[in-house]
Amino acid sequence: MKAVVIGAGVFGALVARELTRYDLEVTLIEKNLDVGWGVTKANSAIVHAGYDDPPETVRARFCAKGNAMYEELSKELDFEFKRVGSFVVAFNDEELKELERLLKQGEKNGVPGLRILERDELLSMEPSLNPEIKYALYAPTAGITEPWMVAIAAVENAVKNGLKLVLGERVTGFEKANGRVKKVITDKNEYEADIVINCAGLYADEIAKMAGVEYVPIHPRKGEYILLDKKLQGLVRRVIFPAPTKISKGILVLPTVDGGILLGPTAEDLPQDMKDRPITTREGLEKVRSFTKRLVPSIDLSLAIKTFSGLRPESPQKDFFIGVSESVKNFVNVMATRSPGLTAAPAVAKYVVEELIQEKMKLQLMKKESFDPHREGIKRYASLPLEEWQKEIEKDPRAGRMVCFCNEVTEKEIVEAIRRGARTLDGIKFRTRAMFGRCQGGFCMVKIMKILARELGVDICEIRMNSKGSWVVNGKVRE
Ligand SMILES: Cc1cc2nc3c(=O)[nH]c(=O)nc-3n(C[C@H](O)[C@H](O)[C@H](O)COP(=O)(O)OP(=O)(O)OC[C@H]3O[C@@H](n4cnc5c(N)ncnc54)[C@H](O)[C@@H]3O)c2cc1C
Repeated sequence: MKAVVIGAGVFGALVARELTRYDLEVTLIEKNLDVGWGVTKANSAIVHAGYDDPPETVRARFCAKGNAMYEELSKELDFEFKRVGSFVVAFNDEELKELERLLKQGEKNGVPGLRILERDELLSMEPSLNPEIKYALYAPTAGITEPWMVAIAAVENAVKNGLKLVLGERVTGFEKANGRVKKVITDKNEYEADIVINCAGLYADEIAKMAGVEYVPIHPRKGEYILLDKKLQGLVRRVIFPAPTKISKGILVLPTVDGGILLGPTAEDLPQDMKDRPITTREGLEKVRSFTKRLVPSIDLSLAIKTFSGLRPESPQKDFFIGVSESVKNFVNVMATRSPGLTAAPAVAKYVVEELIQEKMKLQLMKKESFDPHREGIKRYASLPLEEWQKEIEKDPRAGRMVCFCNEVTEKEIVEAIRRGARTLDGIKFRTRAMFGRCQGGFCMVKIMKILARELGVDICEIRMNSKGSWVVNGKVRE
């Protein structure tokens, strides 16, 4: 039996991995040249506790469940996950009512450990917070991760378990017979399919239209961010939310897993035809600045190292749209994957495979005994104890050649990322954190381009930032 998953974001990656537990031929098709470059690459990276979603929503059904799965998943797939906890803060008694509502809602959603803290306790836990804050809802189970690594790690593990990964091919249509999809058609190939799972993020509505199945219209809801340097490590240790508004969870301050501080996101609805326009604006970044300074007055924006934006796949009903199509019986939609999609994705992937495919579609899948849930991450040599690192350098001197000084990434890690499939500068960046630090590649990008060219056996002019047109140098000044 053949299953085709469309889209290698966090949902497609985890669904594909879940499918490789069974005796199936699984193919994952992604239009980009790498995994996790859609919505999954630019978001707040929070594994939400799950108090924010109204109990009757699909989001609530999967958020706390997904959160509870992250510990084991991060161990199996060897990506970073830190259960740092979160605060939703209140400046006055009116906002306190909102915290009490969230606490009740969280308890209904099965979120453990929620409690409301008063000023002295919350300031002793987070001394940089504005002393005018009076209360905070504390959620100890909230966490932070690297979203793109969740997708990359899941796909690496799925490939080890037999997944066929197809990169750089865009799904353009379907061949159907007797109310079922028979083939998935791309701009380059055709793939036979007994089951199709649509995980195309912002474009999942367009894929559904091509297949003639039910869909909800998806528009982008933009969130702009400012990333601050690791010099500010420890400024906050937890995720700090303001009291939420009707539109979003608010503009927040949070630590990143590698020690930086992230500010954002804004929430701006854009028209449907702006799905490929994740731009930042002066107004958006100014909003991020002023809102986050209210939470943490000592934020120093002279330490900003990057601004970026992400686009949420939003729908009019503001909820995930997940299910087997009524009209095309072998087609599953995983659509409108807005926040908390990153959190919910592991639980949704299990639901898709165990309940939708096996129970609703009534397909009996045989578990493979050979399935191995483990993946080993790329070793970070600079974080080894010195003696151990020395031994690694004696075995291979590339483990001692520092390429990215900001994030201490060695040549050996870059070469290992290439061995695992990185073909572009972003492919290296997301796998190793090189070019992710203070200089954002200013000092190491050319060194990395030379390593890429050498390892791939191509001219340096062939090296791309990410997509096909994104060349960095276009010719030699002299030979
Ligand atoms: C600003 C912002 C903040 C967020 N914060 C959080 C948070 O803190 N916590 C949380 O839990 N969630 C958060 N989210 C939500 C989370 O990021 C998303 O739910 C999740 O990343 C969506 O993943 P996906 O796999 O559905 O989409 P994507 O990552 O976009 O993956 C879909 C893939 O499909 C591919 N594709 C599309 N069309 C085609 C085609 N025709 N052929 C082949 N491939 C195709 C795309 O290239 C893409 O790689 C946030 C989102 C945003 C934007």
